[in-house]
Amino acid sequence: MATALHADADPIADEALRPVAEKLLAGERLDAADIVTCYESHDVVGLGALAERANRAKHGDRVFFAANQHINPTNVCVLRNVCVFCSFARLPKEEGAYTRTIEEVLQEAGGAKSAPTREFHIVGGLHPNLPLQYYTDMMRALREAHPGVHIKALTAVEIAHLARLEKSSIREVLLALRDAGLTSLPGGGAEVFSTAVRATIADRKLVGEEWIAVHREAHTLGIPSNCTMLYGHVETAQDKAEHLLTLRALQDETGGFLTYIPLAYHPDHNELGTQMGWVGRQTMGIDDLKNVAIGRLALDNIPHVKTHWPMVTAFVSQVALDFGCDDIEGTVVYERVYHEAGAETPMEMSYEALIRLIQGAGKVPVERDSLYNVVRTFD
Ligand code: SF4
Repeated sequence: MATALHADADPIADEALRPVAEKLLAGERLDAADIVTCYESHDVVGLGALAERANRAKHGDRVFFAANQHINPTNVCVLRNVCVFCSFARLPKEEGAYTRTIEEVLQEAGGAKSAPTREFHIVGGLHPNLPLQYYTDMMRALREAHPGVHIKALTAVEIAHLARLEKSSIREVLLALRDAGLTSLPGGGAEVFSTAVRATIADRKLVGEEWIAVHREAHTLGIPSNCTMLYGHVETAQDKAEHLLTLRALQDETGGFLTYIPLAYHPDHNELGTQMGWVGRQTMGIDDLKNVAIGRLALDNIPHVKTHWPMVTAFVSQVALDFGCDDIEGTVVYERVYHEAGAETPMEMSYEALIRLIQGAGKVPVERDSLYNVVRTFD
């Protein structure tokens, strides 16, 4: 019964949510219909209470963060005119196009001031000519300059692109990157797996089955990864439910996902926003909190759920810590992907500000590395 959530208060206001709450309290998994019910409910407080209960059972009051730094080696991308939601990519000769040398990447990698970087998060465009060796040389150089740092690099889409360029297999590319120092894969490029959604926002991009196949191969090789879902565009509640259940099924099979990160679509400076009428329709706080909470409830087998403050603001991320999140994006230092799309958040958050943000939510900050080994706890 829902009354078991709190001895003295029933947080569920929407009667449609009650069967979902009862299933959760009985330890049963949500199915697609349950997840759609959650998305269709306006009872965000009830959803939040259910998600926070699930989160507390896994992590108590602890909230993880990393002293990390984002690196985007190139914004040149062969899919520049394919992903209509993307504001980051450029064609090779387009104004604003850039490709960093390894020396430039190393220079930028020394940019963190508030704490020693423990993780480099490296993603970029699908450059038509940059070979696999560019990335392996970069990783070796970063490991040499920053011993002990974790390298979370290259989305499944980038891995598949490199395999095509090199006429090689996904497995061979992953093995070469692992030998060069890759620790884990980020979760980008998943968008929403529905073929109808992909046909509208990312036609000709890696399809859902291929994205899953890259992560399955990584997990098989002992390379853990993250997973994401881009919400707030043309997708339906059913599309989101099926996407989450596909992620859950792979996790049942491999156990290789560390973290789920719901990503909010930003409509500035991209074709979907400016030419297809989505300007002014960016997600609102309620959408962001619901996506966090439903992610926690649906993905019962993925250890962590992260809120991404550069996209949803530090304020919404702080509230998300009471809606099922146990992890918050880190110091970042240089954030380009969402700032090109109109994000008005700062590019960096200092180590101290992150700790204050977490403590302000009544939680215990825990600095972690990429693999969730604890570096320091602020009790
Ligand atoms: S989302 Fe990724 S693959 Fe698509 S255009 Fe942008 S950078 Fe390229």
